[in-house]
Amino acid sequence: MSDMDLFKTEVRQWLEANCPHSLRTPTPENELVWGGKNLNFMTQDMRDWFERMRDKRWFCPGWPTEYGGGGLSATEVNILEKEMLRMRCRPPQINLGIWMLGPVLLKYGTEEQKKRLLLPMTQGEVRWCQGFSEPNAGSDLANIRTSAVDMGDHYLVNGSKIWTSYGDKSDWMYALVRTDNNASKHGGISLLVLDMASAGVTPKAIDLISGKSSFCEVFFDNVKVPKDNLIGEVNGGWPLAKLLLQHERSAMSKFGEFSLPNHFHLKSFVNDYMPKPHTTSETVLNARTVACDMEERIFNLTVQRMGEEARSGKDVFSTMSIMKYAHSEQEKIKFELLLDVMGYRALGWQVEGKANDSFSDQELSVTRGWLNSFTQTIAGGSSEVQLNVIAKRVLNLPDNKAGSSVKKVTTS
Ligand SMILES: Cc1cc2nc3c(=O)[nH]c(=O)nc-3n(C[C@H](O)[C@H](O)[C@H](O)COP(=O)(O)OP(=O)(O)OC[C@H]3O[C@@H](n4cnc5c(N)ncnc54)[C@H](O)[C@@H]3O)c2cc1C
Repeated sequence: MSDMDLFKTEVRQWLEANCPHSLRTPTPENELVWGGKNLNFMTQDMRDWFERMRDKRWFCPGWPTEYGGGGLSATEVNILEKEMLRMRCRPPQINLGIWMLGPVLLKYGTEEQKKRLLLPMTQGEVRWCQGFSEPNAGSDLANIRTSAVDMGDHYLVNGSKIWTSYGDKSDWMYALVRTDNNASKHGGISLLVLDMASAGVTPKAIDLISGKSSFCEVFFDNVKVPKDNLIGEVNGGWPLAKLLLQHERSAMSKFGEFSLPNHFHLKSFVNDYMPKPHTTSETVLNARTVACDMEERIFNLTVQRMGEEARSGKDVFSTMSIMKYAHSEQEKIKFELLLDVMGYRALGWQVEGKANDSFSDQELSVTRGWLNSFTQTIAGGSSEVQLNVIAKRVLNLPDNKAGSSVKKVTTS
């Protein structure tokens, strides 16, 4: 038996012994466990699972052990992720810090910052939010206006952010700020981290038509941020932002795994809802189901191939936009199919705090998944923008405006 086979067996045994059976199911949105100061567990099983994974150092299995990670190799992390998916284990905690800021800190943070900021993440102690978008600076992110003025021993931050997911529930934010108004658009930006409890930070929830929203506007009014909260070089934040966004896109191409995809078998699910005997229109639905299933398999195989290429040293990062685009568009197609198959059973709604006995949990999660599938083609950079990035940075097509090509990025 190879070392990796041995590792797989150990992982399987450990998960079998430690992941409570009640948590081997899709995660309804209201049962997601967000790490942070205000940890909230709906059940003892959730607490046990969180604590066991934390103590095993598997919140960040691939990070170095000195920063609280598990020290696993990329292959081992891949095995662990696959085994968790196979057993349908819920993620023990959700944390944007781990997904996005962590990898940037590992590359650009000082030793002091790594110890101060990474260790609490690996313990699930801090909930992070992302302060990137501003009015007029979403797709055109480098257009940000929120300023950080150097006051000697600290920065003074003024301005506002928008669409900050869970800004009112987070402990810390990583934010892009303008530190030089005279530099080029991309050259005057820095990456800061700040405590949301600082004086002058005001998150304000944005009401949505659904009556429920995770979005906030966040206002900064003379917020003092210590100098050692600057990540990387002053005015050198743009490459860090790009790296962070690549990790965001990579994480987003896996979002679905937490809810329905891979946790249920598309064909048997469709079969359960399809009236028998099948008519012509149902044959069409059948064909769509098979196409969808194939797309999902192709996507998963491509992810696997990219993982193997990454392990052999190839730069696969530039292709994250392709994966984010493919996955979010595919999710939309899949949920539209589910809606067509399930008919009104896919139109259930649950008011927060009230049971809905007319629809099963699975049916309600399809409705939520369908609504969420639209947002995923916008969050982390819209599909149109991903297509621009793919055209320019991956396919090296000529820039419309300049009429010239950009630097070629090696890809698969
Ligand atoms: C669920 C969700 C969660 C989010 N969470 C966060 C968060 O936590 N933190 C944060 O900072 N932001 C967050 N965002 C904001 C998100 O990053 C922006 O909405 C996104 O980048 C698009 O920017 P915008 O809304 O300003 O749209 P705009 O940039 O105004 O775009 C409007 C439309 O024009 C199109 N468009 C714009 N420019 C081009 C172009 N050059 N070529 C072709 N088409 C173009 C877009 O594709 C889009 O269809 C979130 C968004 C969503 C939906």
